[in-house]
Amino acid sequence: MKIIDAHIHFKSSPGFDALAPAAGHENSEAHLRQVFGELNIERAVVMGNNGVEEAHSYPDFLSYCVGFDSSHFSKEAIERSLAHVEAHLRRPDCAGIKLYPGYNRHYITEPFYHPLYDLAGQYGKPVAVHTGATANAGSHLKYCHPLIIDEVAADFPKTTFVLCHYGNPWVVDAAAVLDKNPNVCADLSGILDGGMHDIDAYMRNNSGYVEHLRTWLRYPNAYDRLMYGTDWPLVNMAQYIDFISRLIPEAHWADVFYHNAKRIYSL
Ligand SMILES: [Zn+2]
Repeated sequence: MKIIDAHIHFKSSPGFDALAPAAGHENSEAHLRQVFGELNIERAVVMGNNGVEEAHSYPDFLSYCVGFDSSHFSKEAIERSLAHVEAHLRRPDCAGIKLYPGYNRHYITEPFYHPLYDLAGQYGKPVAVHTGATANAGSHLKYCHPLIIDEVAADFPKTTFVLCHYGNPWVVDAAAVLDKNPNVCADLSGILDGGMHDIDAYMRNNSGYVEHLRTWLRYPNAYDRLMYGTDWPLVNMAQYIDFISRLIPEAHWADVFYHNAKRIYSL
């Protein structure tokens, strides 16, 4: 099965370097290339953390979303960034924009974000938003609740929004937002993290949670808008393919693992 990974991080910080070995990986281009070859992963989308002024040069098998993380974020920085963002969106290897509202502690409904949504819509490239649980205690969860996406999706119908991580653990809310808004998609990255797992044992020991996930992934009947993604290097690639393939009916694997990301991110 051909695969596109719609959500990875690439050489973004020493923190990621330290976490990679716990998932059986190494945070390097050579290792990523090797694993992609072994698992038939054709391409991946890097979620940028490093602001809009960085050069953003990646190996040829990666595309990227230009991202604003907390160290590059302020209202003024967003307002000043528009020309840079547009220059990125013109590049064929730029697949969209990435926002981190929980870490940045701002609602993505704030008016200073609106020009970004117009730009993304104009270039036909999505705005991917971190939704759901965060990696550190200093972030504020209320800003990255998936229900927040409903407002911008409704107000910017020409712009595609991606709920990263399916809003996990607020998957019921993510399902409602996906069901209502045809311009909302989701990636399934980072739902299982924390290093190596025995997937059989995980499914057995967390059967209630797993069934809950299956139920609310099924609810919007939007398998044409769900994308496989990992959050590499935080999860083991082979195990994560196994995990997601047990949540998605086989009839939808080709779409979820490959075709949807190709279409949504214009890869
Ligand atoms: Zn991520």
